[in-house]
Amino acid sequence: MDKSVVRSGADIATPSRTKEIIRRHGFTFRKSLGQNFLIDKNILDKIIAAADLGPTKGALEIGPGIGALTERLAQEAGQVAAVEIDDRLIPILRDVLAIYDNVTLLHADVLKADLRPLWNERFAECESVSVVANLPYYVTTPIVMKLLEDKLPVESIVVMVQKEVAERMAAAPGGKEYGALSIAVQYYCEPEYVCTVPPGSFIPAPNVESAVIRLKRRSKPPVEVASEERFFRIVHAAFAQRRKTLHNNLTAFFGKDRKAELAEVLSAAGIAPERRGETLSLAEFARLEGALAEAGLVK
Ligand code: SAM
Repeated sequence: MDKSVVRSGADIATPSRTKEIIRRHGFTFRKSLGQNFLIDKNILDKIIAAADLGPTKGALEIGPGIGALTERLAQEAGQVAAVEIDDRLIPILRDVLAIYDNVTLLHADVLKADLRPLWNERFAECESVSVVANLPYYVTTPIVMKLLEDKLPVESIVVMVQKEVAERMAAAPGGKEYGALSIAVQYYCEPEYVCTVPPGSFIPAPNVESAVIRLKRRSKPPVEVASEERFFRIVHAAFAQRRKTLHNNLTAFFGKDRKAELAEVLSAAGIAPERRGETLSLAEFARLEGALAEAGLVK
Protein backbone atom coordinates (compact mmCIF):
# COMPACT_ATOMS: atom_id res chain seq x y z
CA MET A 1 0.00 0.00 0.00
CA ASP A 2 1.32 3.46 -0.85
CA LYS A 3 1.22 4.98 2.61
CA SER A 4 1.72 8.56 1.37
CA VAL A 5 -1.58 8.26 -0.54
CA VAL A 6 -3.31 7.03 2.58
CA ARG A 7 -1.76 9.87 4.60
CA SER A 8 -3.20 12.63 2.47
CA GLY A 9 -6.67 13.66 3.52
CA ALA A 10 -7.14 10.72 5.89
CA ASP A 11 -6.17 12.35 9.21
CA ILE A 12 -8.69 11.60 11.96
CA ALA A 13 -6.99 14.01 14.36
CA THR A 14 -8.65 17.20 13.11
CA PRO A 15 -11.64 18.89 14.76
CA SER A 16 -13.84 18.54 11.65
CA ARG A 17 -13.08 14.87 10.93
CA THR A 18 -13.42 13.89 14.61
CA LYS A 19 -16.81 15.65 14.86
CA GLU A 20 -17.91 14.04 11.60
CA ILE A 21 -17.01 10.50 12.78
CA ILE A 22 -18.70 11.06 16.14
CA ARG A 23 -21.86 12.39 14.50
CA ARG A 24 -22.00 9.67 11.84
CA HIS A 25 -21.75 6.92 14.48
CA GLY A 26 -23.94 8.68 17.05
CA PHE A 27 -21.13 8.40 19.63
CA THR A 28 -21.42 10.07 23.05
CA PHE A 29 -18.37 10.60 25.28
CA ARG A 30 -17.99 8.73 28.57
CA LYS A 31 -16.15 10.94 31.00
CA SER A 32 -15.75 7.98 33.38
CA LEU A 33 -13.55 6.27 30.75
CA GLY A 34 -11.29 9.31 30.32
CA GLN A 35 -12.43 9.88 26.75
CA ASN A 36 -10.65 12.99 25.43
CA PHE A 37 -9.79 12.51 21.78
CA LEU A 38 -6.75 14.14 20.17
CA ILE A 39 -7.49 16.66 17.42
CA ASP A 40 -4.03 18.24 17.11
CA LYS A 41 -1.87 16.95 14.28
CA ASN A 42 1.25 18.71 15.57
CA ILE A 43 1.05 16.89 18.87
CA LEU A 44 0.55 13.58 17.03
CA ASP A 45 3.71 14.34 15.03
CA LYS A 46 5.62 14.84 18.29
CA ILE A 47 4.31 11.56 19.74
CA ILE A 48 5.22 9.67 16.57
CA ALA A 49 8.72 11.23 16.45
CA ALA A 50 9.33 10.33 20.12
CA ALA A 51 8.23 6.71 19.51
CA ASP A 52 10.86 6.27 16.78
CA LEU A 53 8.86 3.69 14.81
CA GLY A 54 9.49 2.09 11.45
CA PRO A 55 8.34 -0.85 9.32
CA THR A 56 10.29 -3.38 11.43
CA LYS A 57 8.81 -2.16 14.73
CA GLY A 58 5.62 -2.88 16.63
CA ALA A 59 3.34 -0.48 18.51
CA LEU A 60 0.96 -1.34 21.33
CA GLU A 61 -1.72 1.30 21.86
CA ILE A 62 -3.89 1.50 24.96
CA GLY A 63 -7.25 3.21 24.44
CA PRO A 64 -7.44 3.94 20.68
CA GLY A 65 -10.70 5.94 20.96
CA ILE A 66 -11.83 6.68 17.40
CA GLY A 67 -8.36 5.95 16.03
CA ALA A 68 -6.59 9.35 15.79
CA LEU A 69 -3.28 7.92 16.97
CA THR A 70 -3.94 4.37 15.74
CA GLU A 71 -4.14 5.65 12.18
CA ARG A 72 -0.71 7.26 12.43
CA LEU A 73 0.73 4.17 14.12
CA ALA A 74 -0.63 2.01 11.29
CA GLN A 75 1.20 4.26 8.82
CA GLU A 76 4.49 4.36 10.74
CA ALA A 77 4.88 0.92 12.39
CA GLY A 78 4.99 -2.61 10.98
CA GLN A 79 2.39 -4.02 13.36
CA VAL A 80 -0.11 -2.31 15.67
CA ALA A 81 -2.22 -3.80 18.46
CA ALA A 82 -4.77 -1.55 20.16
CA VAL A 83 -6.65 -2.41 23.37
CA GLU A 84 -9.96 -0.58 23.91
CA ILE A 85 -12.39 -1.09 26.81
CA ASP A 86 -15.44 0.63 25.27
CA ASP A 87 -17.35 -1.81 23.04
CA ARG A 88 -19.10 1.09 21.25
CA LEU A 89 -15.75 2.16 19.78
CA ILE A 90 -14.88 -1.20 18.19
CA PRO A 91 -17.20 -0.87 15.13
CA ILE A 92 -16.09 2.75 14.68
CA LEU A 93 -12.43 1.70 14.74
CA ARG A 94 -13.15 -1.13 12.27
CA ASP A 95 -14.76 1.40 9.97
CA VAL A 96 -12.16 4.19 10.10
CA LEU A 97 -9.17 1.82 10.03
CA ALA A 98 -10.56 -0.55 7.37
CA ILE A 99 -7.82 0.30 4.87
CA TYR A 100 -5.02 -0.82 7.18
CA ASP A 101 -4.13 -4.50 7.28
CA ASN A 102 -1.55 -4.23 10.08
CA VAL A 103 -3.88 -3.27 12.96
CA THR A 104 -5.28 -5.74 15.52
CA LEU A 105 -8.09 -4.48 17.77
CA LEU A 106 -8.64 -6.03 21.17
CA HIS A 107 -11.79 -5.30 23.13
CA ALA A 108 -10.55 -5.52 26.74
CA ASP A 109 -9.75 -3.67 29.93
CA VAL A 110 -5.98 -3.30 29.65
CA LEU A 111 -5.61 -3.73 33.42
CA LYS A 112 -7.20 -7.19 33.28
CA ALA A 113 -5.82 -8.34 29.93
CA ASP A 114 -2.83 -10.65 29.58
CA LEU A 115 -0.74 -8.74 27.05
CA ARG A 116 2.08 -11.28 26.78
CA PRO A 117 0.50 -13.44 24.03
CA LEU A 118 0.61 -10.40 21.74
CA TRP A 119 4.37 -10.79 21.50
CA ASN A 120 4.00 -14.31 20.06
CA GLU A 121 0.88 -13.68 18.04
CA ARG A 122 1.26 -10.15 16.67
CA PHE A 123 4.75 -8.87 17.31
CA ALA A 124 6.73 -12.06 16.58
CA GLU A 125 8.34 -10.54 13.46
CA CYS A 126 9.01 -7.15 15.08
CA GLU A 127 12.52 -6.06 15.98
CA SER A 128 11.15 -4.19 19.00
CA VAL A 129 7.83 -3.01 20.41
CA SER A 130 6.90 0.33 21.98
CA VAL A 131 3.79 1.34 23.88
CA VAL A 132 2.37 4.51 22.35
CA ALA A 133 -0.82 5.91 23.86
CA ASN A 134 -2.93 8.85 24.92
CA LEU A 135 -3.82 7.29 28.26
CA PRO A 136 -7.15 7.53 30.10
CA TYR A 137 -6.16 9.78 33.03
CA TYR A 138 -8.22 7.99 35.69
CA VAL A 139 -5.97 4.91 35.42
CA THR A 140 -2.62 6.29 34.21
CA THR A 141 -0.55 5.10 37.17
CA PRO A 142 -1.98 1.53 37.33
CA ILE A 143 -1.45 1.14 33.57
CA VAL A 144 2.14 2.38 33.64
CA MET A 145 2.89 0.25 36.71
CA LYS A 146 1.43 -2.82 35.01
CA LEU A 147 3.63 -2.26 31.94
CA LEU A 148 6.71 -1.89 34.14
CA GLU A 149 6.06 -4.60 36.70
CA ASP A 150 4.87 -7.22 34.22
CA LYS A 151 8.28 -6.72 32.60
CA LEU A 152 6.78 -6.74 29.14
CA PRO A 153 9.52 -6.57 26.52
CA VAL A 154 8.92 -2.97 25.47
CA GLU A 155 11.64 -0.69 24.16
CA SER A 156 9.92 2.51 25.21
CA ILE A 157 6.64 3.85 26.53
CA VAL A 158 5.55 7.11 24.90
CA VAL A 159 2.41 8.35 26.60
CA MET A 160 0.17 11.35 26.99
CA VAL A 161 -0.62 11.86 30.67
CA GLN A 162 -1.66 14.71 32.94
CA LYS A 163 1.19 17.25 33.03
CA GLU A 164 1.46 16.88 36.79
CA VAL A 165 1.89 13.09 36.45
CA ALA A 166 4.60 13.52 33.78
CA GLU A 167 6.43 15.88 36.16
CA ARG A 168 6.19 13.32 38.96
CA MET A 169 7.55 10.56 36.71
CA ALA A 170 10.58 12.66 35.68
CA ALA A 171 11.18 14.38 39.08
CA ALA A 172 14.61 14.46 40.74
CA PRO A 173 14.99 14.01 44.53
CA GLY A 174 14.32 17.06 46.70
CA GLY A 175 11.21 18.51 45.10
CA LYS A 176 7.53 18.09 45.94
CA GLU A 177 6.89 16.11 42.73
CA TYR A 178 9.37 13.39 43.72
CA GLY A 179 7.74 10.30 45.21
CA ALA A 180 7.06 6.56 44.88
CA LEU A 181 5.98 6.96 41.23
CA SER A 182 9.24 8.77 40.32
CA ILE A 183 11.27 5.98 41.91
CA ALA A 184 9.29 3.15 40.26
CA VAL A 185 9.50 4.79 36.82
CA GLN A 186 13.18 5.69 37.14
CA TYR A 187 14.11 2.25 38.46
CA TYR A 188 12.88 0.68 35.21
CA CYS A 189 13.22 3.55 32.69
CA GLU A 190 14.95 6.75 31.71
CA PRO A 191 12.22 9.40 31.51
CA GLU A 192 12.31 12.22 28.98
CA TYR A 193 9.69 15.00 29.02
CA VAL A 194 8.66 15.51 25.39
CA CYS A 195 6.16 18.40 25.37
CA THR A 196 3.32 20.14 27.18
CA VAL A 197 -0.13 19.81 25.58
CA PRO A 198 -2.93 22.38 26.14
CA PRO A 199 -6.55 21.33 26.82
CA GLY A 200 -7.59 22.67 23.39
CA SER A 201 -5.76 19.80 21.66
CA PHE A 202 -8.61 17.43 22.65
CA ILE A 203 -12.36 16.99 22.17
CA PRO A 204 -13.77 17.38 24.77
CA ALA A 205 -11.09 19.59 26.38
CA PRO A 206 -9.90 18.16 29.74
CA ASN A 207 -9.73 20.41 32.83
CA VAL A 208 -5.97 20.01 33.15
CA GLU A 209 -2.86 20.50 31.06
CA SER A 210 -1.34 17.35 29.59
CA ALA A 211 2.15 16.27 28.60
CA VAL A 212 3.83 13.67 26.44
CA ILE A 213 6.55 11.70 28.22
CA ARG A 214 8.92 9.09 26.84
CA LEU A 215 10.07 6.32 29.17
CA LYS A 216 13.00 4.47 27.66
CA ARG A 217 13.28 1.03 29.23
CA ARG A 218 16.67 0.46 30.88
CA SER A 219 18.52 -2.76 30.05
CA LYS A 220 19.12 -3.09 33.80
CA PRO A 221 18.12 -1.02 36.83
CA PRO A 222 20.56 1.74 37.86
CA VAL A 223 20.86 0.30 41.40
CA GLU A 224 21.15 -3.24 42.67
CA VAL A 225 18.61 -4.42 45.21
CA ALA A 226 18.33 -7.85 46.79
CA SER A 227 14.53 -7.91 46.50
CA GLU A 228 12.54 -5.55 44.28
CA GLU A 229 9.35 -6.28 46.16
CA ARG A 230 10.99 -5.32 49.47
CA PHE A 231 12.66 -2.25 47.92
CA PHE A 232 9.29 -0.86 46.74
CA ARG A 233 7.63 -1.72 50.08
CA ILE A 234 10.26 0.42 51.83
CA VAL A 235 9.85 3.23 49.29
CA HIS A 236 6.09 3.29 49.90
CA ALA A 237 6.62 3.29 53.67
CA ALA A 238 9.07 6.22 53.36
CA PHE A 239 6.44 8.33 51.55
CA ALA A 240 3.42 7.26 53.64
CA GLN A 241 3.23 10.70 55.25
CA ARG A 242 5.24 13.24 53.33
CA ARG A 243 5.64 15.79 56.11
CA LYS A 244 7.10 13.17 58.46
CA THR A 245 10.81 12.35 58.67
CA LEU A 246 12.08 9.12 57.20
CA HIS A 247 12.73 7.80 60.71
CA ASN A 248 9.12 8.49 61.79
CA ASN A 249 7.62 6.99 58.64
CA LEU A 250 9.74 3.85 59.05
CA THR A 251 8.79 3.66 62.74
CA ALA A 252 5.09 3.87 61.81
CA PHE A 253 5.66 1.03 59.32
CA PHE A 254 7.79 -1.31 61.49
CA GLY A 255 6.33 -0.47 64.91
CA LYS A 256 7.27 1.85 67.79
CA ASP A 257 9.32 -0.82 69.53
CA ARG A 258 11.77 -0.72 66.59
CA LYS A 259 12.47 3.02 66.76
CA ALA A 260 15.97 2.82 68.26
CA GLU A 261 16.96 -0.08 66.03
CA LEU A 262 15.79 1.87 62.97
CA ALA A 263 17.96 4.84 63.96
CA GLU A 264 20.96 2.49 63.99
CA VAL A 265 20.05 1.03 60.59
CA LEU A 266 19.72 4.52 59.09
CA SER A 267 23.09 5.52 60.47
CA ALA A 268 24.65 2.26 59.14
CA ALA A 269 23.25 3.17 55.70
CA GLY A 270 24.74 6.68 56.00
CA ILE A 271 21.32 8.37 55.96
CA ALA A 272 20.44 11.04 58.55
CA PRO A 273 17.21 9.96 60.33
CA GLU A 274 15.69 13.47 60.19
CA ARG A 275 15.73 13.47 56.38
CA ARG A 276 12.43 13.10 54.49
CA GLY A 277 11.78 10.35 51.95
CA GLU A 278 11.57 12.93 49.17
CA THR A 279 15.27 13.76 49.54
CA LEU A 280 16.55 10.19 49.06
CA SER A 281 18.04 9.12 45.73
CA LEU A 282 17.44 5.68 44.22
CA ALA A 283 20.92 4.66 45.38
CA GLU A 284 20.12 5.70 48.96
CA PHE A 285 16.84 3.76 48.94
CA ALA A 286 18.77 0.71 47.66
CA ARG A 287 21.31 1.14 50.49
CA LEU A 288 18.46 1.43 52.99
CA GLU A 289 16.87 -1.76 51.68
CA GLY A 290 20.18 -3.58 52.10
CA ALA A 291 20.71 -2.25 55.63
CA LEU A 292 17.13 -3.10 56.74
CA ALA A 293 17.47 -6.62 55.37
CA GLU A 294 20.86 -7.08 57.01
CA ALA A 295 19.41 -5.99 60.35
CA GLY A 296 16.67 -8.61 59.87
CA LEU A 297 13.95 -5.97 59.92
CA VAL A 298 12.41 -6.91 56.58
CA LYS A 299 12.04 -10.31 55.04
N1 SAM B 1 -6.23 7.38 21.55
C1 SAM B 1 -7.41 8.22 21.41
C2 SAM B 1 -6.99 9.61 21.07
O1 SAM B 1 -5.83 9.94 21.31
O2 SAM B 1 -7.80 10.37 20.55
C3 SAM B 1 -8.27 8.19 22.66
C4 SAM B 1 -7.58 8.53 23.97
S1 SAM B 1 -8.68 8.73 25.33
C5 SAM B 1 -7.71 9.84 26.32
C6 SAM B 1 -8.51 7.23 26.28
C7 SAM B 1 -9.12 5.98 25.67
O3 SAM B 1 -8.86 4.89 26.57
C8 SAM B 1 -10.61 6.00 25.46
O4 SAM B 1 -10.90 5.52 24.17
C9 SAM B 1 -11.18 5.04 26.53
O5 SAM B 1 -12.38 4.41 26.16
C10 SAM B 1 -10.02 4.06 26.65
N2 SAM B 1 -9.94 3.35 27.95
C11 SAM B 1 -10.31 3.80 29.18
N3 SAM B 1 -10.05 2.90 30.13
C12 SAM B 1 -9.47 1.82 29.51
C13 SAM B 1 -9.01 0.56 29.95
N4 SAM B 1 -9.03 0.22 31.26
N5 SAM B 1 -8.52 -0.33 29.04
C14 SAM B 1 -8.48 0.01 27.72
N6 SAM B 1 -8.92 1.20 27.24
C15 SAM B 1 -9.40 2.11 28.11
